[in-house]
Amino acid sequence: MLKPIPFIDLASQRDRLRSGIDRRIAAIFDSCAFIMGPDVRELEERLCSFSGVAHTLSCSSGTDALALPLMAWGIGPGDAVFVPSFTFAATAEVVAWLGATPVFIDVHEDTFNMDPASLQAAIGEVEREGKLRPRAVIAVDLFGQIADYPAIKPICEKHHLKLISDAAQGFGSTLDGKMANAWADVVTTSFYPAKPLGCYGDGGAIQTDDAELAKVMESLRVHGGGTDRYDNVRIGMNGRMDTIQAAVLLEKLTVFPEEIELRQAVADRYASGLGDVVKTQRVIGGAQSTWAQYTVTLSSQRDAFMTAMKGKGVPTVIYYGKPLHRQTAYSAFPRSGGTLPVCDRLSEIVVSLPMYPYLDNETQDYIIQSVRQSLDEIHARA
Ligand SMILES: *Cc1c(COP(=O)(O)O)cnc(C)c1O
Repeated sequence: MLKPIPFIDLASQRDRLRSGIDRRIAAIFDSCAFIMGPDVRELEERLCSFSGVAHTLSCSSGTDALALPLMAWGIGPGDAVFVPSFTFAATAEVVAWLGATPVFIDVHEDTFNMDPASLQAAIGEVEREGKLRPRAVIAVDLFGQIADYPAIKPICEKHHLKLISDAAQGFGSTLDGKMANAWADVVTTSFYPAKPLGCYGDGGAIQTDDAELAKVMESLRVHGGGTDRYDNVRIGMNGRMDTIQAAVLLEKLTVFPEEIELRQAVADRYASGLGDVVKTQRVIGGAQSTWAQYTVTLSSQRDAFMTAMKGKGVPTVIYYGKPLHRQTAYSAFPRSGGTLPVCDRLSEIVVSLPMYPYLDNETQDYIIQSVRQSLDEIHARA
């Protein structure tokens, strides 16, 4: 009997990094610099060199990281922000927070990322209708794969739209060796524990080469501060990161590049063990995914498949069972072309398998064998 298989294993990495993390946290206890302490500044510097970007602002979550640039650009009522519908709610939520309108875009069937043709169509529709002012695009690096920025960026430039990369899942993913900041005005990420680069609570970061924008976001991050902390020049938020999270991330960042390679090896083994029985997420040429999720599509009977897997002790999860344009809170917002057939279809056929850098070969072989057996059982019954 194998030990229980987690969907995401955080314990192996914790054990590996424990002594370094303990040391850093003990130093924070000694200094009592719990908020925005020296580890926070160090993390921001290290993240700048990791990504080759001029400015990194740590913050309280990946959601706040998305809100801050929109706030800094003054996006609000009457503005349209184009977002994929096949994503986590936060991508569209921040747009609605500010009174602006999320406009939902379809995704590509094989890559699951924003479809540039659907984006182009939606911008045209909004412009023709003349009710909303197109302002920005938020592309998502879904399941770890960098979006198709070489196709999206020229569309943004042509229509004078700001481009945000929501890299909550794909922070560190590259295309031809370049990270999303090579195309996006702003890259945001989340350090929620289950993300490829996660802390031990909530956290996030924003990266940009725009010095003026960074200054405004820095002010907004702490209540719109001006010359000092009790001078308020704009309406901001409490978006700070706490020092303990920065300490955890500093230790994790030292192994992050190696972990991306380990995740790639796991993805490669899944592809060779399952490529003939399920369709896997296509990675575009020249891209390196961070493999936040390993997601496959099934031709039918997803529920039966998940039940069979559960019976063999293998957890599976659906990301995402309902695209945002079908969610109660978001169903009234506009969609490119009125319908998003690919998002609708994917939500019915995707399922994600256990994925983490420390997934050992023996366990993975058991998962692969379980997938094959579950599919066989379903076909035999049909
Ligand atoms: C997790 C996630 C977020 C939000 O991050 P939090 O840190 O949980 O606020 C935003 N966008 C995407 C695509 C995510 O996966």
